Amino acid sequence: MNRQNCEYVVIGGGVSGLATAWYLRKAGRDVRLLEKNPAVGGCMRTLRQDGFLLEQGPFNVLVRDPAFEQLLGDLGDDIEVEPAGPDAKMRYLYLGGRLVPLPSGPASLLTSRFLSASGKIRLLAEPICARRPKSDDPTVGDFATRHFGAEFAQNVLGALVTGVFGGDVDRLSLKACFPSLARLDREHRSLFLHGLSVPFRRIGKPKKPRRRWKGLINFVGGLGAMSDAIARGLGDGVTTNCEVTSVERRGDGYCVAYNASGVSRSLDTRHVVLATPIGQAIGLLKTMADEPAGKIAESLASVESVPLVILNLGFRREDIGHDLKGFGFLVPPKEEGLSFLGVLWASSIFPSHAPPDRHLLRVFVGGAKRPELARKNDDELVALAMDELRDLLELRGDPVLVNSCRYANAVPQYYPGHTEIVRCIRTQLSSIPNLHLVGNYLEGVSINDCVRQARETVEKMAALPAEAAARSGG
Ligand SMILES: Cc1cc2nc3c(=O)[nH]c(=O)nc-3n(C[C@H](O)[C@H](O)[C@H](O)COP(=O)(O)OP(=O)(O)OC[C@H]3O[C@@H](n4cnc5c(N)ncnc54)[C@H](O)[C@@H]3O)c2cc1C
Repeated sequence: MNRQNCEYVVIGGGVSGLATAWYLRKAGRDVRLLEKNPAVGGCMRTLRQDGFLLEQGPFNVLVRDPAFEQLLGDLGDDIEVEPAGPDAKMRYLYLGGRLVPLPSGPASLLTSRFLSASGKIRLLAEPICARRPKSDDPTVGDFATRHFGAEFAQNVLGALVTGVFGGDVDRLSLKACFPSLARLDREHRSLFLHGLSVPFRRIGKPKKPRRRWKGLINFVGGLGAMSDAIARGLGDGVTTNCEVTSVERRGDGYCVAYNASGVSRSLDTRHVVLATPIGQAIGLLKTMADEPAGKIAESLASVESVPLVILNLGFRREDIGHDLKGFGFLVPPKEEGLSFLGVLWASSIFPSHAPPDRHLLRVFVGGAKRPELARKNDDELVALAMDELRDLLELRGDPVLVNSCRYANAVPQYYPGHTEIVRCIRTQLSSIPNLHLVGNYLEGVSINDCVRQARETVEKMAALPAEAAARSGG
């Protein structure tokens, strides 16, 4: 076995690991990132094929966290932001066999058919009907039903939650999935009345600084361009084709064993950051043969994930009759008419993702609603898509491009009790010197959340100098 030494080893080169390594490098630390696959990015990868840009995992980032904005600022000219086109604001729900626009403001709330008349009355009666939570860890569905009524909870929040977590609105924890909503839910009986008072409470307060990037973005070349830009910045600190097989404690440090293109090697390091998906993190924690690490692995084993398939379908423009003006549509969980979770009109949101004479659709398959569909092969899924979408989108010809990306464990599901699991994990971690965890199974699944957790982890390691931490909004 070959031996080398370094201060920090980050295991896993998805956005969580890349951002952690980036902040460590920024803090002047000696860091090595080891990635199993031939390329970095994890699920944040983009494939180019026949003039299409095919996102293999995430499709866009909603810029909302200072850590993410800072990272974009750091990457500077090495990456070019592509904002979503103006049509992307228009979103639809699939209801009763039709596409119904989601209201874009108070006036369209009354005219849109996204709710029945009684559903709208219940929504508007929130100040009278809303109730405080009975449990201290309610589900997202319970929250939405108490405030806005059962129809809104299922049709609107149910569909949105499917879009983000692929999950079940009646099982996901509000506190873990949407912590700021949970805080409002605890503190205010009516969210409408609270919302009305917000502008008055802002009077006299300093204005928030103008944000450089707002809303939904991607990058020229796709989201994979961001993974590649970070990896370029890390230079020879990144090793790909390198699967870590075990992590062994050596005093306050660690010996990390890995397989690099078939050759067994190891590295002695002071700190280890596990930035793999949850399943591989459990596996590596078990190799440590250490009691608190074993307990963390046990706690993590109780976090379920749902399977997802992303089916990218390219069409000739003339073969789709629908104008596809908008973001696409989501399917509420109780809608029987469609097997899919939703369909994004990818080339309407980011026109650069398809040649000018083509459309690109991105179909979400599986999730908590229909996990068994994620096991169907591409031919079966394409046949199902053509059958179910033909009339809805006026499809007149077969796809000219089919690309699928499959995830057996796509998105971790935060059920009630998740924040307690994370608290216990943090307690156990504090008794293991110099071991750190980052990833989408802890406190947020979005790319923003992964970058924020990476920055917070580096700050806790006291590795970010005060100046860098302050500028990053920490
Ligand atoms: C289909 C899909 C769509 C999504 N859409 C969006 C979206 O539109 N917007 C959004 O904000 N978020 C979205 N998300 C969520 C977000 O993309 C993920 O939560 C995030 O990218 C996870 O990043 P990660 O680095 O934690 O994990 P991963 O991306 O899974 O990266 C982990 C890395 O660890 C490596 N690894 C594993 N084991 C080892 C080992 N033993 N040794 C070395 N390396 C190892 C893997 O090869 C991988 O590269 C989506 C997720 C999925 C799956």
